[in-house]
Amino acid sequence: MSDSIETRNPATGEPLAPVEASTSAQLTAAVAAASEAQPGWWSLGFDGRAELLRRFAARVRDDSEAAESLARAISTEMGKPLKNARAEVANVHKRTETFIARARGACEDERGSEGGIEVTTQWRPLGVVAVIAPWNFPVSTPNNLVMSALLTGNAVVLKPSELTPRSGALYHELLASVLPPGLFGLVQGGGGVGRALVASEIDMVAFTGSIATGQAIMREAASAMKRLVLELGGKDPMIVLPGADVEAAARFAVQNSIGNSGQVCVATERVFVHRAIEDAFIARVRELVSEFQLGDPLDDGTDIGPMASEGQREIVLAQLADARARGAEFVVEGEVRNPGYWLGPSVVRGVADDMRLASEETFGPVVAISTYDEVGEALRRANATKYGLGASVWGPADATTQGVAEGLEAGMIGINRGPSAAAGAPWVGWKMSGFGYTRSTAGMRNFMLPRTHARNL
Ligand code: NAD
Repeated sequence: MSDSIETRNPATGEPLAPVEASTSAQLTAAVAAASEAQPGWWSLGFDGRAELLRRFAARVRDDSEAAESLARAISTEMGKPLKNARAEVANVHKRTETFIARARGACEDERGSEGGIEVTTQWRPLGVVAVIAPWNFPVSTPNNLVMSALLTGNAVVLKPSELTPRSGALYHELLASVLPPGLFGLVQGGGGVGRALVASEIDMVAFTGSIATGQAIMREAASAMKRLVLELGGKDPMIVLPGADVEAAARFAVQNSIGNSGQVCVATERVFVHRAIEDAFIARVRELVSEFQLGDPLDDGTDIGPMASEGQREIVLAQLADARARGAEFVVEGEVRNPGYWLGPSVVRGVADDMRLASEETFGPVVAISTYDEVGEALRRANATKYGLGASVWGPADATTQGVAEGLEAGMIGINRGPSAAAGAPWVGWKMSGFGYTRSTAGMRNFMLPRTHARNL
C-alpha cells in the first residue's frame, strides 16, 4: 500500500492529479539497485561518465518538447513564471561542462613524497548518495547535487520535494534514460520518505532545504557516520554605503528580494541603507517594484507568480503583520489575491532587528529596509544572525567597501553585485547556513573519500 502525494496548483488552489508516494519496499529496492550499479559506473572511468552526462545535457538542450514539459511542470507545481522556469531548465545543460571540468580534477589521484616515503592519495566515490531536494528550484538545485555525485563515480537516489513531485519525476526520467539501469533511482514522498531514505543503506546525504530538516538529517546520519553536504537557509543582508551607485543598488535590492517571489536561498532579506541616501534609494525601489507584473505564471509577460504554497504565504503574511504591529512603514503593500496563493511584492521601511521580518527567514516577496548611521553599526547588525549564506555590499571601490566585505560573516559575498558563486567557485554557507559545500573542485571532493597508499622509497 502506498500513499499519494496531494498537491495544488498555486495559481488556482485547485488540486493537481495525485502522485504515488514510494513504499518502503520500493525505497529499499531503489537503494539496492543503485548500490549494485555503482561499481560499474566508477569502472567506466571519468570520460565514460562525462560522455553519458553530456548526452543528457544535449537532450535537455535539443529536445524542445521535453524541456518545455519540464518548465511547465515547474510553473504549474510551484508558481514560478514560465520564462524563469525555462531559464532554470536551460541552466541544467549550461552548467554541465563546468561540472565536468571541476569533477575531472577532483577524481585525479595525487602523489607526493616526504622523508623517504611515497604516498598516493586516491580519491574514490562514497557509494550511494541520497539527494534530498527542496521545491524552490525543483530541477536546478537537485541537478547540482546529482551531477556532483554522478561525475565523482557515485550512484544516486533522488527524493524531490513533496510540493514538486512531477518536476522531479520528469527530470529523473530524462537523466535516467542515458544512464545504466538502477544507477539513478527516484523515491517520492514527504518528510517520512526522506527520513527513511537517510536511514537506509546509503553512504551520503546531499541535502538542500531548511536548517531544521538539515539538523534532523544530521542527527539521523550520525548513527552510521554517513557523510553529509547540507545546503541550508539564509537571511542575506545587503549593506548600501554612502557613495554607492543608488540605481544599481536599488535594482539589485528589488530583483533579488522579490524574484521567484523571494523564494530563493540567497534572496536579499535585509537591506541596510545609510541615512544619507535612504530617501533616494527607497524612492527608486518603489518605482522599480511597480514595474513587476504579478500574473498567471504561464503568461510570458508575468514577472511574479503566486507563492508556492498556502503555508509559505502564511509565514510571510505573519511576518508582515508583526512588522506592521511594531511600527514598520509599508511603502508598498503586497496584494493578497485568492483563490490561489497570491501575494504581490511589499516594500517595508523602518524594519527593526527584533522584528520577525529581520530575524527569521522570510522566503517571500518583500524588500525589508532598515537605516543605519555608522558603517560599523551596519556590519554588526548584518552579522547578528545564525545565518551566513550570502551577503552583499554596495559602495565606492575603496577601503571601506572592501573592509565591509571582509567583515561580513557569510560564505558568499558580493561586492557591487550579488553573492552567487561564479562557475568554478564553491557554493557555501557559513554558521548555520550550511555544512560541507558543493561546486568547485574542492566541493566535488565532498562526494569522495581520500585513501592513501604509502611505500618506502
Ligand atoms: P524542507 O527542509 O522543508 O524540505 C526539504 C526536503 O527535505 C524535502 O524534500 C522534504 O520532503 C525533505 N524532508 C523533510 N523532513 C525530512 C527529514 N526528517 N529527513 C529527510 N528529509 C526530510 O525545505 P523546503 O521548504 O523544501 O525548502 C526551503 C528551504 O530550502 C529554505 O530554508 C531555503 O533557504 C533552503 N534552500 C537552501 C539552498 C542552498 O543552496 N543553501 C537552496 C535552495 C533552498
